[in-house]
Amino acid sequence: MDIKRSFVKQLLQSTEFNKPVNVKGWVRTKRDNKQIAFVAINDGSTINNIQVVIDMTSFDENKFKLITTGSSLSVTGTLVQSMGKGQTVEIQAKEVEIYGTADPETYPLQKKGHTLEFLREIAHLRFRTNTFGAIFRIRHAMAFAIHKYFNDHGFYYLHTPIVTGSDAEGAGEMFHVTTLDMHKLPKSEDGKIDFSQDFFGRETNLTVSGQLEAELGATALSNVYTFGPTFRAENSNTPRHLAEFWMIEPEMAFYDITDDMDLAEDFLKYLISYALENCKDDLEFLNNMYDKELIERLNFVVNNKFERIDYTDAINILTQSDQKFEYPVKWGSDLQSEHERYLVEKYYKKPVMVTNYPKEIKAFYMKQNEDGKTVRAMDVLFPRIGEIIGGSQREEVYDKLVTRIKEMGIPEKEMWWYLETRKFGTVPHSGFGLGFERLILFVTGMLNIRDVIPFPRTPKNAEF
Ligand code: ATP
Ligand code: MN
Repeated sequence: MDIKRSFVKQLLQSTEFNKPVNVKGWVRTKRDNKQIAFVAINDGSTINNIQVVIDMTSFDENKFKLITTGSSLSVTGTLVQSMGKGQTVEIQAKEVEIYGTADPETYPLQKKGHTLEFLREIAHLRFRTNTFGAIFRIRHAMAFAIHKYFNDHGFYYLHTPIVTGSDAEGAGEMFHVTTLDMHKLPKSEDGKIDFSQDFFGRETNLTVSGQLEAELGATALSNVYTFGPTFRAENSNTPRHLAEFWMIEPEMAFYDITDDMDLAEDFLKYLISYALENCKDDLEFLNNMYDKELIERLNFVVNNKFERIDYTDAINILTQSDQKFEYPVKWGSDLQSEHERYLVEKYYKKPVMVTNYPKEIKAFYMKQNEDGKTVRAMDVLFPRIGEIIGGSQREEVYDKLVTRIKEMGIPEKEMWWYLETRKFGTVPHSGFGLGFERLILFVTGMLNIRDVIPFPRTPKNAEF
């Protein structure tokens, strides 16, 4: 008899007892004696396992040996109410099919309680742990919620290019994309590499941000967002930086900096609420295992207004504090992670949005303020993370933008397409970039960004 496969999640919620069911998954644990065996099966649909009960008096002993931790099974049997502690239902097995056993001598996930560092070395198998199951289910839920939020708010999902010809974005060091033979690079007369012979007939890189292209979309579709991979070749070996990370970049026509901040706050609160409502079991697991204040912190962020301050206020607070910082604080220098976390964790004790940064430390496209010194940038700073969002109102006045491009030595000619948006029907507009993995760090309570992306790319590391 062929019975339709059910997910563990469905069966655990089912009250249709004494009916035949089928479940497929991987063995987490096994306990047995001469009469009876209990096998816990997980299929990734939930953090919880379903217990399969096997009558040993009629089960083939040699076959039973193949049912090991990590082995994959199909179990057909009857769903019954469980008398055991910790579960409400279990399956009385009638038929067990083994797809693949896992040798106890070599399967690395025998015992529980591996360190996160060790699990990074077996990233191909770490999905099978409770921790990474929870993290990647939450990661999925957040990606879904992001699309839902924007769709419900009249935004269009715009696919901006991954390979880009512009190296002027200024957001970070870039990875080259080329089909040239590295051993015989064509040179032009002045001795420089002749990129006209390269695949695209010009120098190209992996994108560091989809913003410039998103701006083009916003000046016709009004509200757009990108959600794709971005690449930064900076050698920053920190728990918050990846060389390949995913970024969400909404861009809105007719939004000023205040509208931009309102959107960022509403968006983040929506996403965190979504996780609290839809990822309960996984969050409770992470809360108990790693971070006893996780759920409390998530609720706190949802329920409290973010503080909004000027960069200049931030500098004053930092210079007046008696905290010792590794990096000096002075007006004009960028806020380091330690400064950001002081403002959020010690001073305001809630998320902080900082605006009006000195123009020297921010990108060329940011809207210049009347004072001639600052730009309408806004960063959202979160507890334990520091910067989670970076955004700004964009400079929409052609002359001001060109002047700034010249001042910063950015090749104006290459930016012709970007500049034309300011020539033809220019509008005030704003946007921001949310680092997807920084969001997942915050929502899961994890401390290292390598643990919230399936296959992290960091300096000297691109295994798997
Ligand atoms: P940071 O100062 O933390 O290095 P940034 O100012 O260079 O970040 P932006 O260019 O403003 O970053 O990018 C927008 C957002 O993308 C950041 O607020 C952050 O959430 C995320 N982000 C930036 N760089 C990385 C990275 N290397 N790995 C993961 N996320 C990143
Ligand atoms: Mn930034």
